[in-house]
Amino acid sequence: MKAVRLTGWGRGPAFVDVERPVPRATEVLVRVEAAGLCQSDVHVVDAAADTLPYEPPFTLGHEVAGRVETLGPDADGATPGERVVVYGPWGCGLCARCAAGRDNYCDRRGDLGWHGVGLGRDGGMAEYVLVPSARHLVPIGDLAADQAAPLSDAGLTSYHATAGVRHALGDGSTAVVIGVGGLGHLAIQILRATTPSRVLAVDIREAALALAHRSGAHASTLIRADTGRALRTGTGGVGADAVLDFVGNEATLALATEILRPGGELVVVGSGGGQLTVRKPGFLPPGFRLSLPFWGTRPELTEVVALARTGTLHVETEQFPLSAAQTAFHRLRQGAMRGRAVLVPDP
Ligand code: NAD
Ligand code: ZN
Ligand code: ZN
Repeated sequence: MKAVRLTGWGRGPAFVDVERPVPRATEVLVRVEAAGLCQSDVHVVDAAADTLPYEPPFTLGHEVAGRVETLGPDADGATPGERVVVYGPWGCGLCARCAAGRDNYCDRRGDLGWHGVGLGRDGGMAEYVLVPSARHLVPIGDLAADQAAPLSDAGLTSYHATAGVRHALGDGSTAVVIGVGGLGHLAIQILRATTPSRVLAVDIREAALALAHRSGAHASTLIRADTGRALRTGTGGVGADAVLDFVGNEATLALATEILRPGGELVVVGSGGGQLTVRKPGFLPPGFRLSLPFWGTRPELTEVVALARTGTLHVETEQFPLSAAQTAFHRLRQGAMRGRAVLVPDP
């Protein structure tokens, strides 16, 4: 079968032939209908050796939707032909966190040797993907595959990130979303659907601000020298109750702490390599809380799928055949993508 693989650090994604896997024990083979392309895939492909806790070669693709093909002899809880999305942050499967469907915070995460499907383990940018257990499959019914695949990371991570700060986003509150790409545009929709907050969006691209508006943002602005002041004015002068940073570089972290209300919530999702220095006494907003969410839980993925099936969430996608993965990577790198790129196996 065809697959998009990382064959070595710094070598870029390769479109190659590999053996179609055969499910053993509790494994489930899923025929891929769509696989999302995340900015994290670009970070992984660009990573230097020894900077990530796993090694190539492996097939990329950590947002996967498809149809159950065959089951291993001990697999239980999936039916051939069933359409599913794959819960990606596979944990050890044995600890209390994994038992509760919180594999993203598996107690053995540091020793696993992978981050999840397509991140150290063979992923979904292929015709088939092997899933270790049916507990990682969430039924999607007749949801379109290009909608379902991005839910498993862009949707789930945004949902988990907002769920962690929902307590701060009551009536009259303001949330700021920095970076309106694959994750950010869904975060705006999720904030609108699950909180009464006013949602402001920030990006460096006009096209992303248009996407923010289509996603339900009340207002948006390009990053400029005076953006902090403008955003603060937009909160009536008090600052934002929560800032969700889907970029995470030096500039966005500085902006986030500048506009945060005292006692506010800063959620850093983006892996942009920025650093935040904590020093007391200092100039950080008093009482602010910082979180660094990783992906999301399996029960949350079920909730995200339910939101999409009722039409509350809509993923803006650009589709590419699997054989054009390199073009999709290139466009994402150039900042030319609108919403989420989704790869679909060639006919
Ligand atoms: P994306 O490329 O689709 O979107 C990023 C958006 O940020 C784009 O619209 C871009 O124009 C904008 N942007 C870039 N630089 C900016 C700046 N300086 N100021 C404001 N906006 C800026 O990326 P994505 O797939 O949505 O991923 C976003 C980030 O989240 C990436 O760093 C990715 O690795 C990370 N991520 C983290 C997790 C997690 O579990 N924590 C999960 C998935 C993705
Ligand atoms: Zn991702
Ligand atoms: Zn575990």
